[in-house]
Amino acid sequence: MTFDGFETLAIHAGQEADAQTGAVVVPIYQTSTYAQDGVGGLRGGYEYSRTANPTRAALEECLAALESGIRGLAFASGMAAEDTLLRTIAKPGDHVVIPGDAYGGTFRLFSTVLERWGVRWDAVPQSDVEAVRAAVRPETVAVWAETPTNPLLNITDIEALAGVAHEAGALLVVDNTFASPYLQRPLTLGADVVVHSTTKYLGGHSDVVGGALVVSDADLGHRLAFHQNTMGAVAGPFDAWLTLRGVKTLGVRMDRHCANAERVVEALVDHPAVAEVYYPGLPDHPGHKTAERQMRAFGGMISFRLRGGEDAALKVCERMRVFTLGESLGGVESLIEHPGRMTHASAAGSPLEVPADLVRLSVGIESADDLVGDLVAALDH
Ligand SMILES: *Cc1c(COP(=O)(O)O)cnc(C)c1O
Repeated sequence: MTFDGFETLAIHAGQEADAQTGAVVVPIYQTSTYAQDGVGGLRGGYEYSRTANPTRAALEECLAALESGIRGLAFASGMAAEDTLLRTIAKPGDHVVIPGDAYGGTFRLFSTVLERWGVRWDAVPQSDVEAVRAAVRPETVAVWAETPTNPLLNITDIEALAGVAHEAGALLVVDNTFASPYLQRPLTLGADVVVHSTTKYLGGHSDVVGGALVVSDADLGHRLAFHQNTMGAVAGPFDAWLTLRGVKTLGVRMDRHCANAERVVEALVDHPAVAEVYYPGLPDHPGHKTAERQMRAFGGMISFRLRGGEDAALKVCERMRVFTLGESLGGVESLIEHPGRMTHASAAGSPLEVPADLVRLSVGIESADDLVGDLVAALDH
C-alpha cells in the first residue's frame, strides 16, 4: 500500500516529524551555517544555507512530489526561478519560443535582460501548435508555455507542445502558476520543467513571495541546483516555511476557488453590462476541450470585458467591497484589477497589450453569495 494521494503528499512529503523532538511541523531553521563533526563531517549534508537549508529542503521535496517530479528547487521569487533556469539552459546565440501573451515579468526578462546577453526569442500564440512548430529553429533550446495564460485565460495543449519541443531537440518549460499542481501536472504530460510563482496559489495567503522549479530529469536537476547555489537567489527559511504551510491546504483551497469561480462566471455571463467572459470552464471557450483533458477543474481566475468600455471597467474595480482592488492572485481573499492600467500597463504598444475594457478577477474562498452579490451590485450600478 502506498500513500500517495495529492492531499496526503501536500501534508506529509518532505515533512517527517522532527527526529529529535517529534515536532509535527518542520521547524524554521533560521541559521546560515552548520557545525561540522571534524573537517568535512557534515550532519545530514548541511554546510551553508545558500547551498541547502532543512526548511527549504522540506518545501523542495514537497513541491517535487506534488508535481510528480524528482527534484524541486525553491527560490526567492518566481522571477528568480525563471532567471536561474534560463541562465542554466541558454547561452548567447540560443533561442526560446515564448507565449504571445506571456506573463509580463517573463516578457520583460527576455526583452530587456536576456536579449542583452544574446539570448534570442520569439513570442508566438501558443494555443496555435503549428505556429509554435513554425517558430522553432536549430538554436531553439526551449519552448516556454503558460496555460491558462494571464489575463486572457488562453489554453495550450501541453502534450502537443511537448511533441513539438522534443522534435526540435528543445525542452518544454511550463509556467504552472495559474493552475497549480492540484489542477494540472505538466511533467506527466511531457513537459521537462515546471516553473512556479509560489507567491500565488501554492503560498495561497498573500503573505510571501517565492518561486520554484521542478524537473523529472536527475541531470537537469543537478545542473539547476548548481546554478541555484552559484547565483544564490534562494528562498529564505521563513519564506520556505510560510509556503510549506500554505501548500498543506492547496487541495481544499483550489476546490473552493474553482467552485466560487463557477458561481461568479454564471453571474457574469447573464449580466447585461458584461460583453464577454474569459473562463476555460465555459463550453464555448476555444480551449475548453483541451482544458477538460489536462486540468482537474478550471481554476479561480476569470477575466471579462465591459460593454461600457474602459470607464465602466475602472468603475467596477473601484466599487467592489468584498473583492480588494490589487495586483497578484491566488490568495484566499478575492482580488480585482484592471490589467490595462495595472499588471499589464508596461505592455501598452507591445504584442502583449490587453483590451482597455478588461477586468481580471482572482476569486478567493469567501462565501460565494457575498462574492456574487458584491460583483452584481457593482455591475448594476
Ligand atoms: C507572478 C507570476 C510570476 C512571477 O513570480 P514572482 O513571484 O512575482 O516573481 C511568473 N509567472 C506567472 C504566471 C505569475 O503569475
